[in-house]
Amino acid sequence: MHLARHTTTTLGESLDSAEVVLLPTGSVEQHGPALPLGTDFMAAEAVADAVADRDDVVCLPTLPVGVSEHHRQFDGTLWTDPETFENYVSDVLSSMASHGVRKAVIVNGHGGNTDAITRAARRLRREETAFAAPWNWWSNLEGLDAELFGQAGIGHADEVETSMVMHIQGDLVREENLEDAEDGAADSWGKSVHGANVGFDTADFSESGAVGHPTSGSPGAGKQLFAKATDELDALVDWLCETQFEALLPEGHR
Ligand SMILES: [Zn+2]
Repeated sequence: MHLARHTTTTLGESLDSAEVVLLPTGSVEQHGPALPLGTDFMAAEAVADAVADRDDVVCLPTLPVGVSEHHRQFDGTLWTDPETFENYVSDVLSSMASHGVRKAVIVNGHGGNTDAITRAARRLRREETAFAAPWNWWSNLEGLDAELFGQAGIGHADEVETSMVMHIQGDLVREENLEDAEDGAADSWGKSVHGANVGFDTADFSESGAVGHPTSGSPGAGKQLFAKATDELDALVDWLCETQFEALLPEGHR
């Protein structure tokens, strides 16, 4: 079920069957000249949507803006600081806990959010408010990305993300710009000088804003990546449904 499509009364009746909250999180940030600024939140939302029909799942509205200041030199990037994001995620999941649903998956679409999400999840668990599993859709492909493209997706606006957007929102991909995206892309994330990471902002190491090989993306690959990610999320939700909340709390606090 989708929380925002219910009324307070219909939701109240439906929450009896709800075991797991899904909170999609993403970013609004540059994804080079070919992919939309909303790529990350759109991907997280689409993956969460695919398992949201379950009666034991309550899917929350997406938190679109995330921790993206490192993309600030590119037009359209929006950001919030990590502490604000951590508190926001924590507050939203605490509200759901007060309505009785204390197990959650944070369905994340943006790498820059992961530290803040992990801190929020750790705090919620320590305070025994909720158990939230941080989950990145692109980290759960079981090698499919390497199989499809010859290497695991480690980039940004790369072949993995390009394929994903082609599958979920193909009309927003500017295919005529994929060559430019790739010409100005970095081969890997960051910039290292004598062991020091001096690539603080994406603009320090990527001209187009992309990292990886956007031209290798395809809708067919996106369909497979989407199916793999949604299967994994579905299985994670199964596991959370089967596990008692108390069993998920830290040892010594039961
Ligand atoms: Zn992205």
